[in-house]
Formats: sequence, structure tokens, C-alpha cells
Amino acid sequence: MRLLPALLALAAARPLACADSHWCYDIQAKASNYACLGPSQWGGDCKKNRQSPINIVTTEAQVDPNLGLFSFSGYDKKQKWKVQNNGHSVMILLEDEASVTGGGLAARYRAKQMHLHWSKELDKGSEHTLNKVRYAMEMHIVHEKEKGTSRSEKEAQDPKDEIAVLAFLVEAGSEENDGFQPLVEALSYIPRPKMNTTMNDSISLLDLLPKKETLRHYFRYLGSLTTPGCEEKVVWTVFQERIQLHKDQIAAFSTKLYYDSEQKLKMTDNVRPLQLQGQRLVFKSQAPGQLLPLPLPTLLVPMLTCLLAGFLA
Ligand SMILES: [Zn+2]
Repeated sequence: MRLLPALLALAAARPLACADSHWCYDIQAKASNYACLGPSQWGGDCKKNRQSPINIVTTEAQVDPNLGLFSFSGYDKKQKWKVQNNGHSVMILLEDEASVTGGGLAARYRAKQMHLHWSKELDKGSEHTLNKVRYAMEMHIVHEKEKGTSRSEKEAQDPKDEIAVLAFLVEAGSEENDGFQPLVEALSYIPRPKMNTTMNDSISLLDLLPKKETLRHYFRYLGSLTTPGCEEKVVWTVFQERIQLHKDQIAAFSTKLYYDSEQKLKMTDNVRPLQLQGQRLVFKSQAPGQLLPLPLPTLLVPMLTCLLAGFLA
């Protein structure tokens, strides 16, 4: 008869865990006594060898002159965006309102959604690391390739870049970031999974990004989604310049949001462990000092010759 209370207790604890064998992050797998599947048990393509995130060794990234400026369209449109707790992150629904071209991408890509990864600790929340340095948060703007805008037939059939994710690392700064405040305030209205709200104030996507002139510096590699099924169809852009948020704004994500509908497990540390880079190359856009690849005398001599010729004529 002693078994019954134990079984009842187990049944009561059950909703805390994932109802089915749903995927989750390490922290939630441990807290639910492995009732949900942590990253080492993720299925789909998650065990393949072109996975994300990775550690980017900045000195080993190769300069690719094709990685030019991005051209953002609709990124400046101010709007009261819909925000959702999807059980794994907080997501802004972008509904094709914005798109991006350039930046070495093979086509136009339409913005679908934006979400973030974070931790309670300021050096544990990003998915990608730069030279093994992990940042407070990482923001992903997820775009899908627009059909019929590929530069060639071959590219149209190449599924490796069906999705373009623009990734921004976030670090703690001394000031409040006004652009992020409507999103931070929305978090209080969506504590539980599947809850939705609308921002109280209008912001544009550009309001969330670092200064536009810094966006010419970025890293590029081919990888995967960082959540199951981990499909290997993502062209990744990881920007060098960090977004700065006040530490209280960063903390709001781990304190206001819950992973479970009983509000027992905080939504935090939603970060997939680093994956092996393997044979893949990481590229970088041209560094500022490298914009003039020719040594100065090579440019000066013809200029002076022209000037002299002008005088002598
Ligand atoms: Zn993500």
C-alpha cells in the first residue's frame, strides 16, 4: 500500500517534466530528472557533422572579398511586434515585413522570426563563442530564402543556405538599451509557454541592432539550426560588434519567463553546447585596415606621375 502515495507523488511531479519526450536544454533535463530529452539525446540531424553553434577562432577566419555590405529592407519599419513564449525562447514574429540581401548571400532572404538565447550569468548565454569567449546573450534573426531570387540554378537547388540567420552577441553595458525596452517589458505578460502578447511601444529591427556602420564586420560559415531537428541548411552570419544591454535588461529574460506552465522551471540557459567545426572553413568580411590592399607607393607613383605630366603639359 505504500506504493500508492509514491505513485501519486510521481504522477503529480509529471507535469513538471515534459509531458512527452520533448526536447529541452541541459538545465531543464536535469531539473526534470531527464524526463525531457537534453542536447545529447536530440534526434533529427543533430548528430551530423555540419552542426551549429561553433567556436569561431577569429585569427583563423579567412578574408572573403565577396562578403560585402548587407542591404536591409523593412528593418527600419517601426511596429508593435507580436511576442511569444514558445517554451524554448522568446520569439518576435516578423511576418515577412523585412528582408535582407547582399552580405555575400546568394539571394534575398525574408525575415520570419527573431529569438534569443541567454543565461543568468553574463558569460554563459551565447551559443556561438568568439575565441572561446561566451557572451551574455545571442540574438538570432531567422530569414528564409525567397524563391526565385537565387543568382543561379545551382544555388536554387542547393539546400545548404535555405535559411540565413543573422546572429548578434549581447554583452552588458552601463546604460539601458532603449531599443530593447519594449521587448523587455513584454516579457512580464508571457511568463508561460504558448502565451502571446503585443509590445506596448513600436520599435524597428534596426533599433535592436548595433550601429549600422559596424555591421560590415562579420563571420560567415555554413551550419545548422541549433534546435531539433538541427537541419543543416543555415548560412550563418555572426556579427563582430556586440549589442549592449543593461544587466537588469539581461536578467529580465531569466527571471520573467518560465519553461513549464506550472512556473516552476525558469527559462534560462537555452544554449546548445558547441559543435565540432570539422573540415568547415569560417570566413570573415574585409577588416578595416585591409581595404587598401596595395602598398602606398604603388598608388602614389602613378598619382605623382599624372600630376607632373599635368604641370609639364
Ligand atoms: Zn537561435
